[in-house]
Amino acid sequence: MIRKVISLVVVATILHGCATVPVTGRKQLSLVSSDEINAMASQQYSEVIKKGPLSTNVEQTEMVRRVGVKIQKAVEQYMASKGSSAQLAGFKWEFNLIQDDKTVNAWCMPGGKVAFYTAILPICKDELGVAVVMGHEVAHAIANHGAERMSQGLLAEFGLSTISGAMGQNPSLTQQIFMQAVGMGTNVGMLKFSRSHESEADHMGLIFMAMAGYDPASAPTFWERMATLSGGQQPPEFMSTHPSHETRISDLKGWIPEAMQYYKK
Ligand SMILES: [Zn+2]
Repeated sequence: MIRKVISLVVVATILHGCATVPVTGRKQLSLVSSDEINAMASQQYSEVIKKGPLSTNVEQTEMVRRVGVKIQKAVEQYMASKGSSAQLAGFKWEFNLIQDDKTVNAWCMPGGKVAFYTAILPICKDELGVAVVMGHEVAHAIANHGAERMSQGLLAEFGLSTISGAMGQNPSLTQQIFMQAVGMGTNVGMLKFSRSHESEADHMGLIFMAMAGYDPASAPTFWERMATLSGGQQPPEFMSTHPSHETRISDLKGWIPEAMQYYKK
């Protein structure tokens, strides 16, 4: 019976569950509806923001918001140029800075809900560095990496393709899968997606930051600072699933000429 259910889900996947990632054109598994995952993201996000605490540093908070809005506009422009604006229909963008000097992290949930933690700002160093991180995190959301991973998680744990169905069976496990899927499952900064997702977000993020008016040539230097910081503290699984810093930096350098075509000074 279970096998039958799973094979039905697999058939449904082949028929309906395929989406295409903007920029890279990769085909991805996407069973979870964007309405469902955006609703869950919105609810989880307001809980995170309520708990905060939000930074009281006005200058830094404004910088994160300023960069966020510029990247948002760039993404909207990019998607419009590809005739793909409909994919942003469910987005309700928000950008917040959380006061937390231990969590070197930033993320963008499905639907454009962004949080930066203050501990990542020294590694960003300045607005350019914030733009590198913002472009990368927003790219994860635009590429639907959260929905893709949520689909994989629900299929593996429940044999199901809807969040509501999984919630009905086990709300806390569903929530856990969601947190992992959107990159909140760890407080070790930005080490949270698979190799292919990280690489895709790097590539897309570079184009988005360039369109927003930030020099994409600054991205490798941000990752060099990140490499120095995380030198000794990578968990073992990180080694096999995450691009090495050298690979990431050399890939980024390879994409810079493409991104420069979008760069608006
Ligand atoms: Zn990432």
